[in-house]
Amino acid sequence: MKHDRVLAASLAGESKRDGAWRRFQKSPLPGAVMASPVWRNVALLVLWVLVWQLGKLVEYTEHASVWFPVAGLTFAVLLAGSARALPALFGGCVLVTIWTGHQYRLALGDLELAYAGLLFGCAHIGAYALGARALRALAKRDSGTLPELVVGFLVIAALSALLATASVLWVLVATRMMPMHEVNAAWLPFWIGDMAGVIVLAPFFIAVLGALRPGAMARLGASVQLNHQQATPRFKYKLLLNLLLLAASMWLAHATRSPNSAFAIFFLVIPYMWIACTESAFFNLLGVALGSFMIALLVHALGLKEFVMVYQFAINVIAANTLFGLALPTLIADNIKLRRVADTDALTQAASRDCFEQRAQLDIIRCRQQHQALALIVFDIDRFKRINDRLGHALGDRALKHVCLIAQQALRPGDLLGRFGGDEFVALLPGNDHAAASLIAERIRVHLHESKLDGEHTVTASFGIADMRDLDTYETIFARADQALYKAKQAGRNQVA
Ligand code: GH3
Ligand code: MG
Repeated sequence: MKHDRVLAASLAGESKRDGAWRRFQKSPLPGAVMASPVWRNVALLVLWVLVWQLGKLVEYTEHASVWFPVAGLTFAVLLAGSARALPALFGGCVLVTIWTGHQYRLALGDLELAYAGLLFGCAHIGAYALGARALRALAKRDSGTLPELVVGFLVIAALSALLATASVLWVLVATRMMPMHEVNAAWLPFWIGDMAGVIVLAPFFIAVLGALRPGAMARLGASVQLNHQQATPRFKYKLLLNLLLLAASMWLAHATRSPNSAFAIFFLVIPYMWIACTESAFFNLLGVALGSFMIALLVHALGLKEFVMVYQFAINVIAANTLFGLALPTLIADNIKLRRVADTDALTQAASRDCFEQRAQLDIIRCRQQHQALALIVFDIDRFKRINDRLGHALGDRALKHVCLIAQQALRPGDLLGRFGGDEFVALLPGNDHAAASLIAERIRVHLHESKLDGEHTVTASFGIADMRDLDTYETIFARADQALYKAKQAGRNQVA
C-alpha cells in the first residue's frame, strides 16, 4: 500500500536513541496486558472511562462539553479494526450513562440507565465504526497522496461526528435522559465537541495503539511509528511557548470579557504551524492534544463559557491545520521529484527541452547585461537510423547515452547540455564566444569519433555553432546553429560548422 510508505515516511522520526516511551514499551506490563484479549478489554475500559472523565471535567452545561475526547479514542480503536474491543467500548458507554444518570439525578432506575447506555453505545460506536471503515477504505487506495488522506480524514471526522450527534441525541431523548426542547441548543456544541475529540485525539491514539500493538494498525499500514520518533531538544520550549500564548490569549478574553479578544486564540495557528514544520508527527499530535486540553480546561477555569463556541472552533481549526502542516513535507518532496522528472531526459539524464529553453532564456539576459559572450552548439548523431536498424534500438539507446557522456566531459559546470529530441542535442555555453565554442565542439567530435561504443562501434556526430549577437533571442541563435548543423551534414558529416 502506498500509504504505508507515505504515512511511515511522514510519521517516522530519525531517532536512534531509546526514549521514555521505548522504555515503557519494553517493560513487562504493557506486553502482558496487550497479549491477553481480556486484559486488553479491561485496560481499554479503564482508559475509555478516564478519557471520558477528561471531557466531563470541562463540561459547561449538561451533556455539552468543550470537546468530547472519548470520540477520538473510540474512532482510533475502531480503526484498528478489532471487533474484540467492542465489550470495552459498550461497557464504557453503559458505565458512564449510569454515572451521568446519578449525577444529573434523573428519575431513572439503574436498569433503565443501563439500557439507555447500550443504546448510547450503538449510536456512538456505530457512527464511528462507519467513519473508521471509510478511512480504512481511503487509506487502502493506491493512488492517494498523504494530503488527500488528511482531507479525507477531516471530512470523515466531521461526518461521523455529525452522525454520532444526531443518533446520540435521539437516544438521549428517547430514553428520557434529555428533554426534547434542549436538542435545539445542544446539537451544534455537541457536534463540534465530538469532531474536536476525533480530529485532535484520534491521530494521537492511532500512534499510541500502533506502537503498543503493531498488528492492530496493520490494515492502515502499521505505519504510525511512534517507536522511532524523537522530539528535538527545543520541542519542550516550543510547547511551553505555545501553552503560554494560549493562556495569555484566554486570560485576555477573561479580563476584557469581550468576544473580540476571544478570537485571539486563532493566532495559535501560527506557532502550531511552526511546530508542524520542525517536529516529527507524534510530537505534533501530542502538542495539539495538550493544547486542546488546556483550552478546554481554561474555558472552565477562567469562566469563559459564553465564548465556548469560539474555543471549540479554534480547537478544530488548530488541529486540522496542524494535520495539513504534517502533510506538507511529503507534498514538497513529491513536487521536487516531479520537477526533477520534468527537467531531465529519462534516458540520457541531459536537461529536457523545456528546462533547457528556460535556462537559455535566463542566461541570454544575464550575459547580455554583463556584456559577456554566449554560444550554442547543436549536434546530431550521424546516420543514427542506420545504427538503430542494423544494431537494434537497445544499442541505439546506449549510443545516445555514450554521446551525452562524452559531451558532458567536455563541458564545464556552468554549461548546460540538453536533449532537443531524438538524436539531437544542444549545449549552452554562457561566457564563451564562437571560437571557444568551436574548440569545445571539435573536442567532443574528436573524442566521440575516437572512442568506440561497446569497444567496437564507431559513432560520429555533426555540429553547428552560433554565438549571441545584438538583438538575438534564443530562437534566432538556435536557428543559426541549426542551420550550421545542416551545413555540416551536407558537407559530409562528422564535422563542425
Ligand atoms: P542524419 O545523419 O542525417 O542525422 O541521419 P539520421 O539517421 O541520424 O537521421 P535522423 O537524425 O533524422 O534520425 C533520428 C532517428 O533517431 C530516428 C529515430 O528512430 C531515432 N530515435 C529517436 N529517439 C530515439 C531514442 O530515444 N532511442 C533510439 N534508439 N532511437 C531514437
Ligand atoms: Mg541524426
